[in-house]
Amino acid sequence: MNEFELIRRYFRRHTDAPASVVVGVGDDAAVIAHTPGCETVVSVDSVIAGRHVPLICSGEGFAQRLLARGVSDLAAMGATPRYLLLSLTLPNFDSGWVDPFAERFHQLAVQWGLHLIGGDTTRGPLSAQVTVIGELPAGSALRRGGARAGDVVWMVGEPLGGARAYLDVLDGSVPDHPVWSARYWHPNPLIAEGQALREQATACIDVSDGLCQDLMHVLEAAVEPLVAELYTDAVPIAADVIEVFGAERALEYALTGGDEYCLLCTLPTGVTPSVPAEAIGELVTAETPGLRLDGEALPSDWQLGWDHSR
Ligand code: ADP
Ligand code: MG
Repeated sequence: MNEFELIRRYFRRHTDAPASVVVGVGDDAAVIAHTPGCETVVSVDSVIAGRHVPLICSGEGFAQRLLARGVSDLAAMGATPRYLLLSLTLPNFDSGWVDPFAERFHQLAVQWGLHLIGGDTTRGPLSAQVTVIGELPAGSALRRGGARAGDVVWMVGEPLGGARAYLDVLDGSVPDHPVWSARYWHPNPLIAEGQALREQATACIDVSDGLCQDLMHVLEAAVEPLVAELYTDAVPIAADVIEVFGAERALEYALTGGDEYCLLCTLPTGVTPSVPAEAIGELVTAETPGLRLDGEALPSDWQLGWDHSR
């Protein structure tokens, strides 16, 4: 297969295009019609084999991690996913890997409400970039800034720690585990939850790099210096992670592990989120932004989250 055959076979699908796609895959650029009263929300993310996923990985797992990363960013803004562009670099154009990749990619795109409007295809070490485009009512975007002293910190999503635990499976230090494997390879962005929080949250972020690190971004974006007081007993941790790693390590994995794709948001005291959520702490005024756990500094040997420069 050459580049053009591959694009035609896998990525040029005109059938289910929404009316707002004026020009889709196949021209020099896509043209989309603006929805009156809405703002456009855009994000781009990369997945590189050997960096964000193992060098050898299945097409379907690669597709889900790739798409979920971008869509989770839209969810954290409260946006409705609409369109996407895919820039794909493949070591070869054999169908063996691309077939399951494209199948899962399109299945999830439909499931998450996205229509593919363009991209780029090249040969090289396996990597991909996805640009996601969403919409929301003008002025309603959920921002990172906006948290206030007295707000409660809520976590929306499945109990934490499994995606981090799976890294230990990948490096061979613990046996494979189906639940952690699913957390790592099949993340599900919380699109409806993000939209529901638009009316309520003062700030919101998705946990892609580690809860502590991502919560720090919220604190740093606030107009006043805040400390988040977190409570160990309130943090939802996957039971099987506690079982295998013990309570202490499980807490570290839950609070600092990446790839969870849950939502972290702040709501004024007395306001209960309209979606299932756990209150994990509260914000208090301070001299400099920071995190505390059960009234003390975080353990000094913790990394707050994933550092992409490492
Ligand atoms: P150009 O050189 O003008 O960018 P290309 O040959 O790269 O055109 O791409 C032809 C068409 O196919 C364009 O509409 C482009 O957006 C689309 N396309 C290329 N690769 C992909 C892909 N992986 N997914 C979706 N659309 C793609
Ligand atoms: Mg091109």
